[in-house]
Amino acid sequence: MLTCFECGEGTLTPNRVQLEGSRHGETFTVETDGLKCDQCGFETIDSDQSAEFTQLVSDAYRKAHGLLTGEEIHSLRTQLGMTQQRFSEYLGTGVASVKRWEAGQIQDRAMDQLIRLKTDPEAARKNLKTVEQHVPEHIVVSEGEEVTLFFMMGEHSQYVHPHAMTVETFSIVHRSDLTIADGSIAA
Ligand SMILES: [Zn+2]
Repeated sequence: MLTCFECGEGTLTPNRVQLEGSRHGETFTVETDGLKCDQCGFETIDSDQSAEFTQLVSDAYRKAHGLLTGEEIHSLRTQLGMTQQRFSEYLGTGVASVKRWEAGQIQDRAMDQLIRLKTDPEAARKNLKTVEQHVPEHIVVSEGEEVTLFFMMGEHSQYVHPHAMTVETFSIVHRSDLTIADGSIAA
């Protein structure tokens, strides 16, 4: 039996406890398996319970900031039938990172988005729509030949952003000398 090191009288016994933890300067209260004094009510965790506590605090932070939790990352990965090693290669990162995120380390926002893009069909579809709206596509209009969309404005040919176009104002011409750079058309 562990004597309470707060009051020195009671005994610390296994109990659900509510403890505060902080991440990146923010404090979160989480409920976890811990120890509670039967006299003064002091709550704490032992070293075996600290990993779970750490994970819970990280997940509280991630939920508050719209980031995937460790469990969510784990389930997205296993949904694809990938090992942590394979998943890390798929994302272009190290396997240690995948292990840490699933165990409670907080992924940065850019990586969070990449994980969604590469695991969530809905996120991938949304992204595709955005890309299609902003980047003119190479299309095949005749067999074996790739051409670039080229927009014509009135009498003068002009390179314009697709958003500025209406159906009436553009036509498609074959131009093999056009290339696409950074989402805009350049000669
Ligand atoms: Zn106590």
